[in-house]
Amino acid sequence: MFTVEQVQRYSRHMLLPEVGPAGQQKILDAKVLAIGAGGLGSPVLYYLAAAGVGTLGAVDFDTVDRSNLQRQILHRDDRVGMPKTESAALTLTGLNPDVTVVRHDEPLTSDNALDVFAPYDIVVNGCDNFPTRYLANDAAYFLGKTLVDGSIMRFEGMATVFEPGQGCYRCLYPAPPPPEMAPSCAEAGVLGVLPGLVGLIQATETLKHIVGIGSPLVGRLLLIDAMTMEFRELKLRRDPACPVCGDHPTVTDLIDYEEFCGFAGGDASPAEALAAAV
Ligand SMILES: [Zn+2]
Repeated sequence: MFTVEQVQRYSRHMLLPEVGPAGQQKILDAKVLAIGAGGLGSPVLYYLAAAGVGTLGAVDFDTVDRSNLQRQILHRDDRVGMPKTESAALTLTGLNPDVTVVRHDEPLTSDNALDVFAPYDIVVNGCDNFPTRYLANDAAYFLGKTLVDGSIMRFEGMATVFEPGQGCYRCLYPAPPPPEMAPSCAEAGVLGVLPGLVGLIQATETLKHIVGIGSPLVGRLLLIDAMTMEFRELKLRRDPACPVCGDHPTVTDLIDYEEFCGFAGGDASPAEALAAAV
């Protein structure tokens, strides 16, 4: 049963035959984990809270820095120095009291990832470095959870959805690029609106998944170029030789991802990473 306030708050969802009261109930019952409460995590968490996702987890051990505020819209100038998960919880529960925010104030590691992921229905990846990207991929696959992936660099972004058994990040990029090929956003810069573009694609895919509507971005890699405003789509297939989700997997448990990636740096741009992969 919905309260009067909920009927008012979610009336535009209720009006959609594809969502309706049953879909809104699924949204209220959903548990979504965001890796990172930064550039991508901000729009993802903000809109999922507005939509009424009942439980939102945020993994982030960073504090708000003034250099974040150009794009990380969950945070505010008067919260510089505050843990990002605390700032996120203040913003999200202020927007919608239906939402419970679960703070994970810790780095995501091979030791805790499976426990952190376990209670959630779906994981949205907003991380900014390769070790966490591979860790999130492997942990989501081992737990059979859908991973809504996204990444950004400079003026480019990409998004896709990994459904266990239908391909994974390692099918796309079996190995990380060498560190010198992989500058972080801190080194290379990023247009402030870009995480909004990519994060809202991730939030959209998450809501579709929860309600069970539409055609998911599974088996498709969406490449976004803000400079030309061109969206390109590449087909993704499960690689039978994939070390994680292939026919004869060689990685069957979480590994040391810092060592695997050879460093703790950031992502390459999608185009660079793609070039490195082919
Ligand atoms: Zn794979």
